[in-house]
This record gives sequence, C-alpha cells and structure tokens, in this order.
Amino acid sequence: MGFKDECGVFGVFGHSEAANLAYLGLYALQHRGQESAGIASTDGSVITFHKEMGQVADIFSEDILARLPGDCAIGHVRYSTTGSSELKNAQPFVVDFESGSIAVAHNGNLVNAQHIKRELEVNGSIFQSTMDTEVIVHLIALSRRETIEERIVEALNRVRGAYSLVFLMPDKLIAVRDPRGIRPLVVGTIRGGGHVVASESCALDLIDGTLLRDVEPGEMVVIDRTGMRSLKPFAAASSRFCVFEYIYFARPDSVMSGTSVYSVRKKMGHRLAIEAPADADIVIPVPDSGVPAAIGFSEESGIPFEMGLIRNHYVGRTFIEPQQSIRHFGVKIKLNAIREVVAGKRVVVVDDSIVRGTTGRKIIKMIRAAGAKEIHVRISSPPTTYPCFYGIDTPSRRDLIAATHSLDEINTYLTSDSLGYLSMAGLHACVPGQSLDGYCHACFSGAYAVPLEEAETEEQLPLFRGSVRI
Ligand code: AMP
Repeated sequence: MGFKDECGVFGVFGHSEAANLAYLGLYALQHRGQESAGIASTDGSVITFHKEMGQVADIFSEDILARLPGDCAIGHVRYSTTGSSELKNAQPFVVDFESGSIAVAHNGNLVNAQHIKRELEVNGSIFQSTMDTEVIVHLIALSRRETIEERIVEALNRVRGAYSLVFLMPDKLIAVRDPRGIRPLVVGTIRGGGHVVASESCALDLIDGTLLRDVEPGEMVVIDRTGMRSLKPFAAASSRFCVFEYIYFARPDSVMSGTSVYSVRKKMGHRLAIEAPADADIVIPVPDSGVPAAIGFSEESGIPFEMGLIRNHYVGRTFIEPQQSIRHFGVKIKLNAIREVVAGKRVVVVDDSIVRGTTGRKIIKMIRAAGAKEIHVRISSPPTTYPCFYGIDTPSRRDLIAATHSLDEINTYLTSDSLGYLSMAGLHACVPGQSLDGYCHACFSGAYAVPLEEAETEEQLPLFRGSVRI
C-alpha cells in the first residue's frame, strides 16, 4: 500500500454537462498527479466510469465523455512513485454493494490502512487493489448503519491519516475532509446551477465556478437534490493543513484558507531576501516552482528579476538518452539556461525546495557553464528533513540531503557559492494563521500531524454532532 500518492479530486452535482466539467476540472488539477485519471458519473440510477493510465488530455475523448451520462460526476488524477502504478489502482474506485453503487476519489494517505486491511483479510475480505482507499470502501460496505452518511462516518472513524474524499452515489455527492484537514478541498457553485468540490480552486475558475469556501477540517458536505448540507460528525481535532501545499504543491492561482497561494509564495521570497540576502546582479527563478518567490526576492532586495532558465513544458515522464553522453542531459531536457542573461553575472537562483539535491546540483552546473560568475541559491522553505506520509511524494530520510548534511555540506554538493533557506519563523510569517501549529510541517520538523504508530481507538464517536443546513 503506497503512501506516496499525490492526487487531485473533483466532483460536480446538478449540472447537465457533469462529465465534461469533471474533465475540465481534472485538466486544472493535472499538476497533482500525472499517472492515471478517471471520471465516474451517474444519471441517477447507475454509475458509469472510465479510467486509464496517462494524462487527462490523452485519456478522454468526446466519445468517452459522451458515454459518461448524467448530471453528477467525480474525477481523480493520481501520481504514485511506488510499484503500485497500475490501472487497478487508478481512481475513482467504483463498487456495487448491497445498498447500492458508490464511487470514490481520494487525495491523501492513511497511516493505518495496512493494519485494517490485514484485519479485514483475516475475516474474508478480498481486495482488488493495493490502494488504501479500498479499505474505506470495505469498511463502508461492512457497516451496519442505516444511511450512507452514517456508514461513511463509521468507516472514517476507523482510519487515521489524510483524506480529502469525494463520494458519488446515484442520488448524492458527499465530500469529506479528515479532522485535521491535511489535504485541501474546496466547495463552490457553478453558473447555471449545481455544486462543485475540488482539491483546488483553480479547477473552479476553469469551469466558471464560484468558490464558496474550503470544506472545513472534519466536515462532511452532502449535496443532493435538496441542496447542500454540512455535517460535523468527527471528534474535534486541531487543524493541521499541509504547509507544503502553499510552498510547492498547489497551483499558485489557487486560493486556500481564503489566501492566494501566489501571494504566500511571493511573501516567502520577500522574507527570504531579508533572512538570507545576497550581493548579486540578477535574481532568477527555477521555473515554474520558484517564480513567485523569486519575484518577491527581487522586489525586496531591489535586485532585477530575470528569466535565466527556460522550462520545456512538453517533456514526458521518460526519454531516451543518446548513446554519446551529453553534459547535464537529464536536467537540460527540462531546463535550459539563457547565456545572455547569466554570463558574467552574480546570480541569485530561487527555488521552493531541495529534496535530494540532484536537480539543484545539475542546474547550478548548467548556469555556471552558461557563464555565471557567482551563484547564490536561495530556497523559499526550511530544509526538507523528513518524509511525508500524508500524500506528498518525498523520499525516505536517507535520501533527503538536508536530513544528512549540514548547510555548508549541501552548498558544497550543489557547487553553489552560497546557500540560504527560509527559517521556520519566516515560514510562519508568510502563511495565514496565528501560528505554525495550525499546519502539518512534518517535512521540516518531523512533528507528524497524525502519529504514525497511533493506537487505534475503537471508541465510536457520536455521529452527526451539529448538522446545519447551509
Ligand atoms: P531535488 O533534485 O530532489 O532536490 O528536487 C528539487 C526540486 O523538486 C525542486 O525544484 C522542487 O520544486 C521539486 N519538488 C519538491 N517537492 C516535490 C514533489 N513532491 N514532487 C515533485 N517535485 C518536487
């Protein structure tokens, strides 16, 4: 069961072109997962679905979308780095059980799925996939509660970890965010009628939707023919939204917790320029992830912003290298330095994060080969020292360069002239909220939002505390 899935989810209820809107929504969320995509729709009686390996643009045609009828649909994009990159693990996951059909799309990772899976298997359950999402589906099917809402709550009370989930039933759509709200999820309306939920608000922009708000941590939003209801069925937990969404993962044109991701990244650049100034001639971003922070760094420092690196946006997951080796090939196919911009210059290179350090090292060598006189690397987040278990793809500690090397050692490895990171206090100053305690920042601190070996509590919490119609 891989705990490295990066995903995006989408759902639409009450719009005549539901599958088409889901398709567009997934287009906008493609950055959250490029390995497989799928859409499930319903006409009110049955659920139809289509999912394949590959990217949204290559999977769906007009014909395929025409075969996904109805005015409700959900969609999913997924990227997994583990061995589980197979069609059987693509989502939405669609099943029929005794009380009807259900489709589910999940973003996030559970930390006790293996444990529950083993227990269910001992009792005779047969799993079709290696997805932790399937565990939730089994628990829903096994629940003896009456309504689907109660069954979902009972199932989710057993799992721990990160989940932003969208369920589709023939008569309703249900969106749920885990009690700590680790992964994002927003809800909105669509012009012409209907509701929409999505991992990020940029998906709403594309379909002329209006962002209402974030689905709150621990909230269950039920959308059916009577409208939208909000339930708070889980025990209260402190919110621990993933801070890395603001740093790297989300699209900068998305709004999270009412705050523009772009504005947060730019602020990080401002702060970085104060915390780790550099005497230089130009500031260049590593595109695309470093652009907003580089603009902020340039504004704060007064050092001109330039595009010294250009990204090729059409590179696939793999490419065939020529037999005769080309220097810096792996990075050159994605990025190229503009000699006219960097030659003879003292350059500040801004990126959002360093993971293994391998890309950074190649980039520095490439900029140096293009004639830069000095290269000062500035990173708009604190050093990444711990892996993520809640849905961001980071390698184990031993492969995280900042987990095993000092600042000086990383600088030496990168072959840069200086290196500076944003501090934790700096990060706090840039993200919304009173304190970093409201976030999961385990990748920088090791303080995991959901303890990995947390003992399961069998205690069933009272269902549906405070159901309010909104
Ligand atoms: P590395 O060579 O491993 O240090 O890679 C660093 C680059 O990866 C930076 O440019 C980051 O923007 C990018 N990055 C950080 N986190 C992720 C992630 N989870 N998936 C893909 N790329 C990432």
